[in-house]
Amino acid sequence: MSIENNLREIQKRIELALETSVQKGTEINMNGERNVSLVGVTKTIDTARVQELVNLGVTILGENQTQEILRKVPLISGAPSWHMIGHLQTNKVKSIIGKVKLIHSVDSIRLVDELQKQAQNAALVIEILLEVNIANEATKHGFSEQELREAVKYAAEKPNIKLNGLMTVAPYVENPESNRIYFKKMRELFIDINKEFINNINMQNLSMGMTNDYAVAIEEGSNMVRIGTGLFGERFYI
Ligand SMILES: *Cc1c(COP(=O)(O)O)cnc(C)c1O
Repeated sequence: MSIENNLREIQKRIELALETSVQKGTEINMNGERNVSLVGVTKTIDTARVQELVNLGVTILGENQTQEILRKVPLISGAPSWHMIGHLQTNKVKSIIGKVKLIHSVDSIRLVDELQKQAQNAALVIEILLEVNIANEATKHGFSEQELREAVKYAAEKPNIKLNGLMTVAPYVENPESNRIYFKKMRELFIDINKEFINNINMQNLSMGMTNDYAVAIEEGSNMVRIGTGLFGERFYI
């Protein structure tokens, strides 16, 4: 299958899942806009194929390594927004400040501190999501449900950070239905935080769902999906 065919198929499935969520009343409808953002995940993908995706109209690209973002940014035309979606080490923050539109994977207070420091030095405001380890997996990064409230409060007080929402990487499962309970929980957290905190945060993105489970994620309220394999096929790591 070509990238174009894959993209059209995914766009169709996104629309169908969004309709289902509207019927269920689970869609996150910010500022009257009902929309699911597609983040094309380009990790390990060569720049020619990344460019093909951008040329097809995908405007947001996701990478999980800072070096890859720095390498690809000058090589891809069409001014896509770059999102950092993988674990970010504090010593790498400085290099990507100003290069990425959104960091999905803010997973520790130390990282919040470093982001504030480097954003202030660069005289800009950095937009972030807090990552939640919703299934409490030992192998995953992210705040636990219990830690999340404190982290939200903490980030909300930082003048050079704008908290835009939440992100999760759900467990790897055979049947995407197994993750439905986690997506539901994420939506509840998102809604609760939205009700509770008003100052200096702008909860608009609920980033959840990957190739295997994005339809279920959208049905439960996701408005930002991160898809790699579904667009490009299997990844080959060298
Ligand atoms: C690789 C990756 C994805 C995309 O996964 P696919 O299964 O290839 O769609 C999404 N989110 C994160 C954080 C990733 O690292």
